[in-house]
Amino acid sequence: MKTRVRFAPSPTGPLHIGGLRTALFNYLYARKHKGTFILRVEDTDQNRYVSGSEAYIQEALEWCGMVPDEGPVNGGAYGPYRQSERTSIYKKHIDQLIASGTAYYAFDLTDTLDTSRKEAEKKGETFRYGSHNRMQFRNSLTLSDSEIKAALEGDYVVRLKVTPGQRVSVTDEVRGNVTVESDLLDDKILMKSDGMPTYHFANVVDDRLMEITTVIRGEEWLPSLPMHKLIYDAFGWETPKFMHLPLILKPNGKGKLSKRDGDKDGFPVFPLEWGEDTPGFREMGFLPEGLVNYLALLGWNDGSEKELFSLTELEAAFSVEGVQKAGARFDYEKAKSVNHQYLSKADAGTLLVMQKAQEVLNDFEEEKQLQIINLFKERLYTINDLEEEIAFLRNPYPYDEKSVAKIQNKNPLMVLKQIALLLVNQKEGETIKNALFQWAKNNDVPLGLVMQSFRLSLVGKLTGPDLFEICTLLGKNVSLKRVQNFIQYLS
Ligand code: GLU
Repeated sequence: MKTRVRFAPSPTGPLHIGGLRTALFNYLYARKHKGTFILRVEDTDQNRYVSGSEAYIQEALEWCGMVPDEGPVNGGAYGPYRQSERTSIYKKHIDQLIASGTAYYAFDLTDTLDTSRKEAEKKGETFRYGSHNRMQFRNSLTLSDSEIKAALEGDYVVRLKVTPGQRVSVTDEVRGNVTVESDLLDDKILMKSDGMPTYHFANVVDDRLMEITTVIRGEEWLPSLPMHKLIYDAFGWETPKFMHLPLILKPNGKGKLSKRDGDKDGFPVFPLEWGEDTPGFREMGFLPEGLVNYLALLGWNDGSEKELFSLTELEAAFSVEGVQKAGARFDYEKAKSVNHQYLSKADAGTLLVMQKAQEVLNDFEEEKQLQIINLFKERLYTINDLEEEIAFLRNPYPYDEKSVAKIQNKNPLMVLKQIALLLVNQKEGETIKNALFQWAKNNDVPLGLVMQSFRLSLVGKLTGPDLFEICTLLGKNVSLKRVQNFIQYLS
């Protein structure tokens, strides 16, 4: 049987990185098994629908290189792929369950249920509408045919008729067996009074009709798994395999990562920006390869210490055995350090088209832009670091006092005057590196002093990329001027 997996987000806002990680694991599982990766949009909850969200999800997947094989945009033989366009399918399947007696109509008004809920709460219990009390309510099990007919003219829901006294047992590929006594389960609502299916019902029907072989989703759905099993049973269907992924935790490990954590500590939790005030990883200067690699490590490893995986390597390495049970702590510094590896290796052309690179380099000629990127890329954790890194190319930083103090009593002026002299005499196409090193050697001047004096003149502090490359980038005239300024400053 051909492997088919689906990513099934609800379009209720931007895609959280937890959702993106679910999409990634689905994608990897599909590629690993030479299967199909499907995008299904679960948009039946009209109250939570946010326009623009579906397009956002599609764009985020494409940015990460995880283009769905089937979905609302790409189409496919199992569509429609938006649940809101599948209502007649759900209706047909609901009718089937009603006819077989595994589901029933329930007409109770919200008020009646609220009263029962409050009574239960008073006794310290949670209210359940289920096998133990369903015969006390107004539903198609308790009303006469004519009463039912009349009641169907008004509002009603359809509920699953859970058979009491069963042990419901399902296997999760990551967590093993999940077993629950059916007496503890509600007669879950399958169809709401607006005629829309609930998530649980639509999800089961669609996974079946779309021939999904493995359901891969977040851990928050694990508690619903036994109930989903009962819906499969009601139809007499085999279940697919299930794989529930561990939660992504806050940086301190306490609870689920939320947008608020990102706002508080200044890191993104969405792949792309959502409105102007909420930048995503892309706007914060990540390469998609960097983000994807980091996300793969949130809840999976290949059993070794290896941490750098391209998408193609992940496709080959991914396995269910590598998925962990415990929650995965989000660590922005780690994410940046993975991204740093990708930035260092990327070719200058790729980096140059990134938003921030465009912004901070657009007034340089193209050849110079490429030179700058090549010189600085190994120093970047995000492309946005470029702004600060290259600021001294326009104006040197104020001289760093501590660094100046280090060289001050070692006669830097003598060195600086020599550097100025060499710059003045520098010919077109020549670097002054060799000449300066030779001079230092002949005159027994420590090379450290030479380099520090020169770097402080050009940069203002003692960090930065290769000094002679900086000198070339600045050009002879600017370099000379900066050395002279530093001489003046010291004298
Ligand atoms: N629509 C559900 C969600 O967004 C999907 C859960 C599932 O994959 O079954 O979480």
